[in-house]
Amino acid sequence: MNRIEIKEDNVSINRIEERCINCGMCKKTCESINNIGNDCVNCGQCIMTCPTGALTPKYNYKEVLNYIKDTNKTVVVFVAPAVRVAIGDSFGYKPGEFLEGKLVSALKDIGFNYVFDTTFGADLTIMEEAQELLERIKNKNTPMFTSCCPSWVLYMYKYHLNDISKLSTCKSPIAMQAAMIKTYFAQNYDIDSENIISVSLTPCVSKKSERELYPDTDIVITSSELILMIKELGIDFNALEDKEFDKLLGKGSGGGLIFGASGGVMESVLRTAYYMLNKIKAPQEFYQLESIRGDNEFKETIVDMKQFKLKIASLSKIKTVIENYDKLKDYDFIEIMSCPGGCIGGGGQPLVAIKDLENIRKERIKSLYIGDKQQKIKESYLNPEIIDAYNFCINKGKVNLHTNHNILAKNFTNNDKKSIMNEGGKK
Ligand code: SF4
Ligand code: SF4
Repeated sequence: MNRIEIKEDNVSINRIEERCINCGMCKKTCESINNIGNDCVNCGQCIMTCPTGALTPKYNYKEVLNYIKDTNKTVVVFVAPAVRVAIGDSFGYKPGEFLEGKLVSALKDIGFNYVFDTTFGADLTIMEEAQELLERIKNKNTPMFTSCCPSWVLYMYKYHLNDISKLSTCKSPIAMQAAMIKTYFAQNYDIDSENIISVSLTPCVSKKSERELYPDTDIVITSSELILMIKELGIDFNALEDKEFDKLLGKGSGGGLIFGASGGVMESVLRTAYYMLNKIKAPQEFYQLESIRGDNEFKETIVDMKQFKLKIASLSKIKTVIENYDKLKDYDFIEIMSCPGGCIGGGGQPLVAIKDLENIRKERIKSLYIGDKQQKIKESYLNPEIIDAYNFCINKGKVNLHTNHNILAKNFTNNDKKSIMNEGGKK
């Protein structure tokens, strides 16, 4: 077959048959990113290079608009880091322009009741993953793989089920944030969680299928769906004034922000792990780990944690994983993202000219790191909203983060296999 197959029940990707000219570009893209034959892992890279717009995310934004009209519902949106450096592509801004304030403003104009930042969820992931990394090192249970990219997790289930325990037991930032919205936020604002609709705004189509594992997220919409909402509602994006995220789960650290770039998860986790281990701030090099930054497909280095050295690697594209899988056992900590450059290059980002894709991804990466640099707080453990959340949930025992609701942790087991195997599962 000249083109990739998109199954009817794929919850991430859609093909509009009338637009398909059978050019084969989607197949070429899939081979260069994943190279696992007809096996779809939902990354949606094919959407980015289809020349006719025949491939799109599976749209869910109309459901969101219906919930916003329902006055019985509290509709809460939370925004992934990579959206703010990409959305400007559709409104005439230069590639990578950091448009956080306008983005918040647009979401408030659309009618969301609360607008939060998924960098808060990323900070929770950092806190949990840093602890887990240190424990695994103590117990000689490495390598530990990151678990925040659902396409990578799906690939592991399909091809390396025996190594599934190597995945960090941390839920993804989105899943942590959604679980905190249904508990911590609901309790603080005295809202019945049944009436909360949690909407995750992401650069990622694969997150639509991740809902199978983490049902606290009610709806996932992509950057490209947000653009449709803005245009359909007639909002003049360029004229919007900057607004700030709402408080409570509103803001993350610089470390949370760089989650959108390949290597960013690892860099942020190491900043916090160093502090947890040595009780002092990590040295300056942990704030500019150049060897694991950028859009190279395989990046590696050794970091000095003071009490021991860590061999780390950051990979993007499943094809890179396949080519290097055997040697990964020699590393301590490995970050894997399916999309080129990480989530800034996700399949739900706005469509841009195919020839410009690579350069645009570079600009988005640069912009996130500048954002981190400009942020006063660059470490998750110093984020006051994170401190408050742990204080409320752990110290005051209001919400038990690890047992009651499995808010932050997820033990990946063979039992999950069935629910996530059918390329996005049921809707
Ligand atoms: S890239 Fe688009 S137009 Fe070309 S074969 Fe694939 S779906 Fe059809
Ligand atoms: S790299 Fe990011 S955008 Fe791409 S599939 Fe993974 S989580 Fe989604």
